[in-house]
Amino acid sequence: MLTVKDLVVNYGAIQAVKKVSFDIHTGEIVTLIGANGAGKSTILKTISGILRPTSGQITYQQQSLQKVAAPKIVHAGISQVPEGRHIFPGLSVQENLQLGAFLRRDRANLAQSYQDVYNYFPVLKQRRHQDAATLSGGEQQMLAMGRALMAKPKLMLLDEPSMGLAPIFIQEIFTIIQAINAAGTTVLLIEQNAKQALSIANRGYVLASGHIKLSGTGAELLANPAVQEAYLGGK
Ligand code: ATP
Repeated sequence: MLTVKDLVVNYGAIQAVKKVSFDIHTGEIVTLIGANGAGKSTILKTISGILRPTSGQITYQQQSLQKVAAPKIVHAGISQVPEGRHIFPGLSVQENLQLGAFLRRDRANLAQSYQDVYNYFPVLKQRRHQDAATLSGGEQQMLAMGRALMAKPKLMLLDEPSMGLAPIFIQEIFTIIQAINAAGTTVLLIEQNAKQALSIANRGYVLASGHIKLSGTGAELLANPAVQEAYLGGK
């Protein structure tokens, strides 16, 4: 579904991503794990067209994304849930969801999409008329995911969904990511919470200082002593 080949991304003189290659097949959950500053968010932002690659190729469903503007990438079926949620304060939960559907062409099935989001996240239905700024951190993460779902993505990019959340919310968010995937959305998940991410991923890539150091199935990486030592706090 998505192929990233020899991707290099610079911020001025800083090379954040150094010849990274990986792929995602339709139906998978793929995770990129790695420490702070490894280049994970930079890769995600480059796929969604917020940043441009210095060199390398990103191909989505046989189409190069090189010169495609970010809104067109959303149209093509790629939706990002950004790090830090970025919900819109002053707007209600429902208005935030509505913005997620802003670029959508098939407006006919919008009601079904609200229903789907409220099925995944019943708390959002309860709070649909409430100012989004009054939601807890976990609820804001749910809203950010709901907003991305309103665009009906084929591929959902999730940037650190567990960040700053209480363990009970983390568990819930990961369970819902699996449910969204089981309903047909392919997932690219970026996480510092390597254990949880690898537990739900079909495959994973370990990123360090802008390079891919290791790759394998989620189970293989979980069992890898080097991964355990560096990312799972030893075992
Ligand atoms: P984190 O989990 O902390 O977000 P990350 O793996 O997502 O880490 P990136 O945010 O992609 O890492 O950052 C990769 C490198 O690029 C880091 O060294 C970072 O300092 C640098 N970087 C990120 N954004 C910018 C920017 N706007 N300008 C300059 N350097 C940046």
